[in-house]
Order: sequence, then C-alpha cells, then structure tokens
Amino acid sequence: MKQTCDILVIGGGASGLFAAITAAQIAPHKRIVVLEREQRVAKKLLTTGNGRCNLSNVGGLKGHYYGDVAFAEAAFSHFGVEQTCCSMAQLGIPTVALEQEKLFPCSLQASSVVDMLRYAAADLGIEMITETTVERMIAKNPYEVYTNKGTWQADVVAIATGGKSCVGKFEGTTGYDLLQNMGYTVTKLTPAIVQVTTEKEPIKPLTGIKVDGQITAVCGKETRTEVGEILFADYGVSGPPVLQLSGMIARYGRADLMIDFMPDWSEQAIYDEIWSRRLRFASRSCEDLLTGLMNKRLGQTVLKRAGIEKLSRLGGSLTHQEVKAVVTMIKGFPLKANGTKGWSTAQVTCGGVLTKDFDPKTMASKLHRGLYVMGEVLNVTGDCGGYNLQWAWTSGYLAGKAMGEA
Ligand SMILES: Cc1cc2nc3c(=O)[nH]c(=O)nc-3n(C[C@H](O)[C@H](O)[C@H](O)COP(=O)(O)OP(=O)(O)OC[C@H]3O[C@@H](n4cnc5c(N)ncnc54)[C@H](O)[C@@H]3O)c2cc1C
Repeated sequence: MKQTCDILVIGGGASGLFAAITAAQIAPHKRIVVLEREQRVAKKLLTTGNGRCNLSNVGGLKGHYYGDVAFAEAAFSHFGVEQTCCSMAQLGIPTVALEQEKLFPCSLQASSVVDMLRYAAADLGIEMITETTVERMIAKNPYEVYTNKGTWQADVVAIATGGKSCVGKFEGTTGYDLLQNMGYTVTKLTPAIVQVTTEKEPIKPLTGIKVDGQITAVCGKETRTEVGEILFADYGVSGPPVLQLSGMIARYGRADLMIDFMPDWSEQAIYDEIWSRRLRFASRSCEDLLTGLMNKRLGQTVLKRAGIEKLSRLGGSLTHQEVKAVVTMIKGFPLKANGTKGWSTAQVTCGGVLTKDFDPKTMASKLHRGLYVMGEVLNVTGDCGGYNLQWAWTSGYLAGKAMGEA
C-alpha cells in the first residue's frame, strides 16, 4: 500500500533535519516525513568536530567554498552565519566561537546538537522513519518514492542524502543516483578533508610528531599554502592545514609538497642562528645542532636530508654551504604526495550535483516542480572549520522555508 504525506525529506542528516524543522515551524498542519536509511538520524553529525560539532565559522564565509561558489554565496546572502546562530539558539543550542573563529555549541557536544534537533522535530510532529532506504523515485504528480519498506507519495520531495564520505560499506542508491536518473548532472566526485598519503622514506623518523608549520601543495598549475599544525604519520601527513589541501590533492591524484618548518623566520635569521650555534657549540656533535630550535627528531631528519649524513661530526666542522643547505631544508622540506586515505576517512565530498538547475534562494529545482535539493549532495564544498555544516544549515533552512510556504 502506498503511504502519503505533504513533504517527504529523503535523508535525516544535518540539512534534512534542519529543512524539516523549518518547514514544520512555518506549516504546522502539514504531514512531514523524514526517511533515513541508518538506525538513527544524524549519525554523521555525532562525529563532527571531533565530537564537539564545529557547526559554522564567524570569520567570514567568502573564499572558503569550492565548486558552484556563486550559487553558495547567493544562498548565504539569504541565510548566513548570524541567522544560523539565531535559529540554533531558538532550538536551544546557543553557540560559542573558539579556536580561530570556529563556532561550536556551548555544550561542546555534537550529541547535544543531535538531541536538540531530534527533540524539536518530535515536538513539531515530524515523523522520522529510520532503517528505510530510498531506492528509486519517479517524478510525477505526486512524486512516487520507492523504499525497501514500501512506497511513499508526496507533492513535495526534498533530497538531503549527503555525500560519499564516511558512509561505510553502503552500496545502495545514493542521492546522486536519484538525481542523475531524473536528468541532473553530477560532477566527478573526490574525497576531501582527508589525510594525505606521501612517499614514506623521508618522513619515516618523524612518525607521531606534530609541528606548527606552513605547507604548500603544487598540483599542475594550482598552488595553495596553508599554515597550522602538521602531523606526521606512517602513511603520510595530516593535521588542519593538510586537510585543507587534501581536496586539491585528491583531484589531481598527486602533488609536490613543500613544508616550511619555521615560517616566522627569514632564511637569513635561521642562517645566523645556526651559524652562531656552530661557533658556540663547535665541540658538540651535529646531532644536537638544532635541538632547542625545533623538535629534536625533526632537527636530525632535516640535517640528514640536507646532506649531513654523519651526525656524530662536530658542529664546528660545518661549512657555509652545508649550513645554507640546512636552511633550505628547514624552509622547504620537499615531500611527494601520492594520494589520500580515500572515502573511508574523508569528511566531505568534493563535487556533486550541478546547481545550475536549482534556485539559490529556495533550493527548488527549475526542472521539477516540488523538488528541493540541499546539503553535501550539491556541488558545493567548504573548507575545514565549520563551513560544510554551515552549507547544510543554509541550504536546509532555505529549502525548508520554501517547502513550508509552498
Ligand atoms: C568525521 C567527520 C567530521 C566532520 N566534521 C565537521 C565539522 O566539524 N564541521 C563541518 O562543518 N563539517 C564537518 N563534517 C562534514 C559534515 O558532517 C557534512 O558536510 C554534513 O553532515 C552534510 O550534511 P548533509 O545533510 O548534506 O548530509 P548528512 O549529514 O551526511 O546526511 C545525509 C543523510 O542521508 C541519509 N541517506 C543517504 N542516502 C539515503 C537513501 N538512499 N535513503 C535514505 N537515507 C539516505 C544518510 O544516512 C544520512 O543520514 C564532518 C564529516 C565527517 C565525516
């Protein structure tokens, strides 16, 4: 038997729940149903921000998005960070800015965001039906949506199925499939905000070390530089600046990385410091030449890679040329990236459904009346730092408002 409702939201994640809540606030009389394939809604949201949910960023959104940027910016002009904070506060989730303008719930608990969204949805009479996977839909009047547990009919359907990242072994129908079958264009999809794999040998001694530095990735004609804490692991590198670069590296498949371990020092200042150490500690071995200036293991690795193979040599024996080579290695430690850790650990999807067929004010389709699409499934990707959830809230809110008013 076919079941019916007024608004059917496919996907109970960040954007889908926010859209359903917004629609229900505007149109309390409408029957709103959220279909979610997992055992519980918003599972991914629980893991965001290392369990603290970095839900937005107060440092400005411009320059932090990729893909259909003009579409995203148009949407943000209707519902931005300020409106998100107000809406969250109304739902009982006041926010606080920490760590370089990242916005978190005051509770610093992602689980509390999920709880408050669930409670709001329940209070508003939204039906959240879990363990129900949408397998196919047909665009007719009303829409017919086929799931593993029966068929739904609705005049208004929202696709909020998220991206390909971190979805485990799921191999069923995705939002990309649903939309592609209806004639929408999906770009190439690559994992982003993910650890980067590199050649192993040069960083073998550095496994487990965290250093503040500047990292530049060169992919073909594209170059991007990020600053922050870089983590060395057995597979390659991670940490916030690496995660930021990972989308670009995933797109190209490889990159030439260059790490500046002392970005606040000029080459001359580093040279002077090392030369002065060479004089002051002339009778000590090179092993400790950089100790105190940087992480000891990193210092030794830099010296070896700069050609000082025998660290038992006396510091006083270093030539000007050798010190220059050490400075060059500190300011530009080269490393070849050969990919990323892939979908299983990626936080987001780069690419998605092209937005040319949607209205940025309402997320409504221009091709199918009553169809709305939001969140990560669209070709909008944000940087690490709360930008992806902000896109989920913005697109979810705008779609929810339009669906409520429809
Ligand atoms: C580990 C991790 C940490 C992250 N941390 C942050 C962070 O701190 N800040 C930030 O801004 N972003 C973060 N992100 C990214 C952020 O979580 C996503 O961009 C955001 O959740 C996307 O929202 P969405 O509603 O589009 O999709 P989702 O939240 O992924 O929701 C989509 C939902 O649709 C369901 N679904 C999919 N297909 C079907 C189907 N066929 N039938 C029924 N249901 C279906 C899924 O099960 C899912 O629940 C993180 C991501 C990960 C993986």
